[in-house]
Amino acid sequence: MSRDFVRVRFAPSPTGPLHLGGIRTALYNYLFAKKHGGTFILRIEDTDKKRFVSNSELYILETLKWCQIEPDEGVGYGGPHFPYYQSKRWNIYRIYINKLLEKGYAYYAFDTDKDLDKKRKEYSNRGLTFSYNSKNRITLNNSLTMTREELHTKLKSCYSYVIRFKIKPGEKLKMHDLIRGNIIVDTDHLDDKVLLKSDGVATYHLANTIDDHLMKITHVLRGEEWLPSMSLHILLYRAFGWNIPYFAHLPLILNKNGKGKISKRNADGLDFPIFPIQWEVPDSHIIIPGYRELGYFPEAFVNMLALLGWNPGIKREIFSMKELIHLFSLERIKKSSIYFDIKKANWFNKKYLINEKKKEVFTFLCEKLRKRSIDIGKDYLWKVIHLTIDRIHFIHEIWEHSFYFFIYPDSYEANFFNKICNRNTVYQLEKAIVLLSDTASPLFTSVNLKSLLTETIKEKKIILKLLRLALVGILIGIDLFIILEMLGKEESIRRIKKLRSNIKEKI
Ligand code: GLU
Repeated sequence: MSRDFVRVRFAPSPTGPLHLGGIRTALYNYLFAKKHGGTFILRIEDTDKKRFVSNSELYILETLKWCQIEPDEGVGYGGPHFPYYQSKRWNIYRIYINKLLEKGYAYYAFDTDKDLDKKRKEYSNRGLTFSYNSKNRITLNNSLTMTREELHTKLKSCYSYVIRFKIKPGEKLKMHDLIRGNIIVDTDHLDDKVLLKSDGVATYHLANTIDDHLMKITHVLRGEEWLPSMSLHILLYRAFGWNIPYFAHLPLILNKNGKGKISKRNADGLDFPIFPIQWEVPDSHIIIPGYRELGYFPEAFVNMLALLGWNPGIKREIFSMKELIHLFSLERIKKSSIYFDIKKANWFNKKYLINEKKKEVFTFLCEKLRKRSIDIGKDYLWKVIHLTIDRIHFIHEIWEHSFYFFIYPDSYEANFFNKICNRNTVYQLEKAIVLLSDTASPLFTSVNLKSLLTETIKEKKIILKLLRLALVGILIGIDLFIILEMLGKEESIRRIKKLRSNIKEKI
């Protein structure tokens, strides 16, 4: 493949936010373009005014920016094929639809919605499905059965019409998809799709094909949901006499819990976020958080997304954008659908957190402590981070896993606390206080404390649990002996005494 030959496009419709599948399509197009030194174009396919959702375009641009997927050409970036909005290209589509009409590849159809509904009902009463196709088109109200004069009169008298593509029946159309291989479609099964709607607006199929040709797109990489349209698009290219680009239809992303395909329309029913960044539902106060707001790093998100349907053929899983570009190939895209697993997404975030984001964790903790007017040495802070970072997936989780290194627990886990409110506990705590007080400060290390507390005390299991409650407030956290060492003798004893007096108050 010639290097400067590759031109690909991401062509979203502004019908709402991008979901995981949408942004993955953008990413694969970008990786493919960059890998081959090609051009990545952003085109907005806004032909369907009824489904237009305000904010969508801004959302698309911001998402691409967050993911560091930067178009070379297109909406927001300009370029030689301006304009990149389909809504601003009507004049172009008009020229090309006329060419199809002239060559006999398209025809006017005057059937009203009412006529077509009637047909649908008639067919359905006979257990059949109506489709406007090569078998029945001459029985319908269109220019195929009219003389030139009749057609002229009809057009002049402002009849409402659409323009349909005239499918040639009886052909086994051979197509090739770079991911799925050879596909054969019987043109007898295709219907005469509308190319120009009654309001004069081109449909997606017409606009998409014309734009891909004019923008010199070499490879169409898009979601599998467009596979059924591939035959029509190929027939359109053929009718125009144009070269056909390569096609690659990317596998669907499915919900692991079996709720089927993910799309922006079924975002509610899923137990994982579906949008890359937050989506403010227009005309409502609803804001749906995205991966960005939930604390995922863009690098981790992009890394996860890249491997959601493609693999580099090596065992590693962590790749920078640069490495992804280097390794990417269409041959390694999976044919079958992919199950999305939020645990895996979290795993990626954790990896980036531990490998690259410790400084950000440090800054986050500093800010938390500053707000509480807690002044603590840098070294202590770094030690805390090293001790707890393994337990978190997101920066914001650091506080709930490390607060006890900085502040007194402000409450005790109720269940356990209620169970231990008795004289025996007080006695146990007193024993621990004596033991710890008798330990010289230089010996107050995790290793010494471990042998002291586990070898000399009979009821060590309960004592250790009590100490954890005293120091942390809940029964989680890192190794207890390390907590003791980190807090130091004085602070540890203070917390144990506090628990003791709280229990005393209760009994
Ligand atoms: N506008 C279509 C969409 O939003 C793009 C289909 C294509 O890439 O051909 O999915």
